[in-house]
Amino acid sequence: MEADERIRATPEAPRPATPARENEETAVSAETPGAVTHERCVHHPSRAAVARCSACEEPICLPCAVPVRGRVIGPECLAAELGDPRLTVPPETVTAVPRSMAAVAGAAVAVVATIGPWTRTGAGDRLLGAWIPSIRWSMIAAVAAVALLAVAWWFRARGTRALATLVIVGGAVVASSSALAIAFPPTFQEASWGPWLGAVGGAIAAAGAIASLTGERRPRQGV
Ligand SMILES: [Zn+2]
Ligand SMILES: [Zn+2]
Repeated sequence: MEADERIRATPEAPRPATPARENEETAVSAETPGAVTHERCVHHPSRAAVARCSACEEPICLPCAVPVRGRVIGPECLAAELGDPRLTVPPETVTAVPRSMAAVAGAAVAVVATIGPWTRTGAGDRLLGAWIPSIRWSMIAAVAAVALLAVAWWFRARGTRALATLVIVGGAVVASSSALAIAFPPTFQEASWGPWLGAVGGAIAAAGAIASLTGERRPRQGV
C-alpha cells in the first residue's frame, strides 16, 4: 500500500500497466527516445505527456500519440500529416450546434395557437379550441405543439444535433396537422385562426432548427 501511495504522489511518471512484462514492450518510449517528463498533454491537462508531436513539438499523452510512419503525431497535426482534413476533429469534444431561439419562439406560438378557436362554429369555436377531446387534426396539433415546446426548450439548453432533428420533426408534425385541420375541418365547419397560427409556429420552429444545423457547417457565422 505504501508503494501504491508513492506512485500516486508522482503523477508525472506513467504507471506501468503490467509490471511483469517490462522488458521490450514499451513501444511508445522506444519510438521516442527523448522521454518527456514533468509535462502534461497539450490536449489533456490531467494526463502525463509521454511524447512530443513530431510535427509541432507539443507534448502529448498516450491516447493522443498516434504512430505514423515511424513518427509520433498528435491529433492536432494528424490531418495535415495524413492529408485528410476530415481528421481535424479535436479529441473528446461534443458536437454542438448553434442554439436556436427561433425554435422556442415558434413552438411557443404553436402552443398559443391551441388556446385560440380552431373552428368558426361548433365545439372548437371557443378558447382552447384545439383541445376538443375527440380525435381530430386539431387535437394532434395541440399535443404535438406542447411536446414541441418541451423539445425546443431542451434543444436551447443542450444544443445537440439529435435535439435539433427532434425539433424539425416536431415542427413538421405541428405544421402539417394544423394545415390538415384547415383543409379538413369537422363536418359543416370552417377553420378559424387557431390552425393558421399553429402552422406558422410549427414552421418557424422547424426552420430555426434547420438553420442551426446548416449554420453549424459554416464557421464564423457570427455569435
Ligand atoms: Zn502536433
Ligand atoms: Zn492527450
